Amino acid sequence: MKLFNRKRNYIPIHIEHQISEESDSPKVPSGMFTKCPSCKRSIYTKDLGQDKICPECGYAFRMPAKERVSLMVDEGSFEEWDKSLTPENPLNFPGYEEKIKAAQEKTGLNEGVLTGKAAIQMQPVVTCVMDANFIMGSMGHVVGEKLARAFEKATEEQLPVVVFTASGGARMQEGMISLMQMAKVSSAIAKHSAAGLLYITVLTDPTTGGVTASFAMQGDIILSEPQALVGFAGRRVIEGTIKEALPEGFQLAESVLENGFIDRIVSRRALAETLGLLLKMHS
Ligand SMILES: [Zn+2]
Repeated sequence: MKLFNRKRNYIPIHIEHQISEESDSPKVPSGMFTKCPSCKRSIYTKDLGQDKICPECGYAFRMPAKERVSLMVDEGSFEEWDKSLTPENPLNFPGYEEKIKAAQEKTGLNEGVLTGKAAIQMQPVVTCVMDANFIMGSMGHVVGEKLARAFEKATEEQLPVVVFTASGGARMQEGMISLMQMAKVSSAIAKHSAAGLLYITVLTDPTTGGVTASFAMQGDIILSEPQALVGFAGRRVIEGTIKEALPEGFQLAESVLENGFIDRIVSRRALAETLGLLLKMHS
């Protein structure tokens, strides 16, 4: 039984169901069921549909950046920017090049964020979509550079920006170079904001670390998908530090909303429409 399929980031349960001793006995195809990481129920994979929502609890499964783009923006409207920017190994961190190469092969992306110009419900927009499958959606120098350039170009072209965040935080293989991306992106966001332009963030599961501590929380409007993990340090680190157990639902979007850090939780099915409406109201 294979419990964790890294490629997809959700957990297909492979069942080999032998009905009789005969050699041609029927078998259930692998990957037919997927375990929901939120409600822990086994879901018939087909029931997740194209938008990958758990039919039992509404949890929005992690989604590769390319799939997210095709689900959110108007068909054929996405024009990708800075596609050829590829990360280097600035600190000569052992094994980092191999890690990048494996992530590139797994995701078909050069880095953990897709940026470009598109239309959402016929509203022109610059959009940046992070991919949690690329070294945990961590923020390296190319992720920061692509985001900063996207905000700069949006400012030039007087366009709003929608960022879909998905990140484990800063990329440890790049040390301080990764951390300075927080300031670089924030500075580009400040200039975009000073030009009177709208910035919307959509937090998806997981949005943590340096990404939460910078551009994820700098949106004029902050939306989130249901039950997304949203936080800075992880539960275990905090519990270990304060020596106290944390409440149930800690760092889930619903409790982050209650504490005032999120404006609204929107189901993935209603997301494109909600974004289109917000963009239209502010255009
Ligand atoms: Zn579920």
